[in-house]
Amino acid sequence: MKILVINCGSSSLKYQLIDMEGEEVLAKGLVERIGLEGSLLTHRTNGTKTEIKKEIPNHKVAIQLVIDALLHPEHGALKNLGEIAAVGHRVVHGGEKFARSVVIDEEVMAALRECSDLAPLHNPANIIGIEACQALLPGVPQVAVFDTAFHQTMPKEAYIYGLPYEFYEKYGIRRYGFHGTSHKYVARRAARLLGRPLTELKLVTCHLGNGSSITAVKGGVSVDTSLGFGTISGTIMGTRCGDIDPAVIPFLMEKENLTPGEMNDILYKKSGLLGLSGVSSDARDIEAAAAAGNERAQLALNVLAYLTRKYIGAYAAAMGGLDAIVFTAGIGENSDLIRRMICTGLEFLGAELDEEKNRVRGQEADVATSASKVRILVIPTNEELMIAQETAELLG
Ligand code: AMP
Repeated sequence: MKILVINCGSSSLKYQLIDMEGEEVLAKGLVERIGLEGSLLTHRTNGTKTEIKKEIPNHKVAIQLVIDALLHPEHGALKNLGEIAAVGHRVVHGGEKFARSVVIDEEVMAALRECSDLAPLHNPANIIGIEACQALLPGVPQVAVFDTAFHQTMPKEAYIYGLPYEFYEKYGIRRYGFHGTSHKYVARRAARLLGRPLTELKLVTCHLGNGSSITAVKGGVSVDTSLGFGTISGTIMGTRCGDIDPAVIPFLMEKENLTPGEMNDILYKKSGLLGLSGVSSDARDIEAAAAAGNERAQLALNVLAYLTRKYIGAYAAAMGGLDAIVFTAGIGENSDLIRRMICTGLEFLGAELDEEKNRVRGQEADVATSASKVRILVIPTNEELMIAQETAELLG
């Protein structure tokens, strides 16, 4: 069974064609600058890379190009379109309507449009991608896999904010959480690596990348997560501020005479590692600057490690115990320094990092000492594979 996975952004589109027998990636690629000058498709298959530069005015044209590339006699991966059993779409926001992946029909499309209010930058692009696939691949089942769905199991005390209740009822203001596909994937892999049933485990999964979130996974379900209504709370991120006292927002808006849009820009695009260090939003640059003696870069690393450690402790308390800490995404998979900084001080919980084993990058590993009661795992995430698995599972 071959599944096409589509992750559609406002001006970009990522895709993977996965053969579910053996879970092999047959082809993958990226369309960039859709609707802009200099649009480009980069397609990879069997170790070859093909670049197609041409005008790509919209997502329908982009998906047609992807289909042409997949069918291409030299760099393609399909003989005919009938080989695509289904398309799995990453959809950012499913609101409270979707607690699991769904086969898309008219009713689902209407509900997705309703959720657009909650993710105005993301859901409209996801919807355009689905509509383009429906038009170009008629009769092929389309499945929506939501970033938020995995977190719909959170208990009410974890997802409700202490605001007047009417705002939850009127506007759906609550914690939703994101990166659900990644947290679910690494939690499943962690159970495999530990050789224990997921239903018995208490895990804290740390997805640390450009965007970051930390999740308490108890018995295989999310019981709390650090991102909330938007994608800025929790630990600091590349350019996002993480937890701040909300009182700062009206204060700054007044002092600096900022519009809501300008304030949002500061919180989402000018804060976090970038805002603190003044160097870069990229953890590698920050590590290099800190090593060269830049104090603000060092501060940014310290804050990232401190907040993440605080969440791990909080979630161990929320779950009443902890079996393993899982590190994933760009920073979590690759930075032994940041993993070490986060784990230093968690020994009281029974989590003891082995400095030697911790020197891994981008591969699955247990990096705790053999005596450590809590295991510390590095697990590269694979959201595309998780989307393909969910799609295949739904189609039976
Ligand atoms: P992601 O959003 O998951 O692609 O993660 C991007 C982040 O991972 C960026 O901040 C990168 O600097 C960081 N990253 C990738 N490789 C490394 C590495 N070897 N050491 C430290 N950070 C890394």
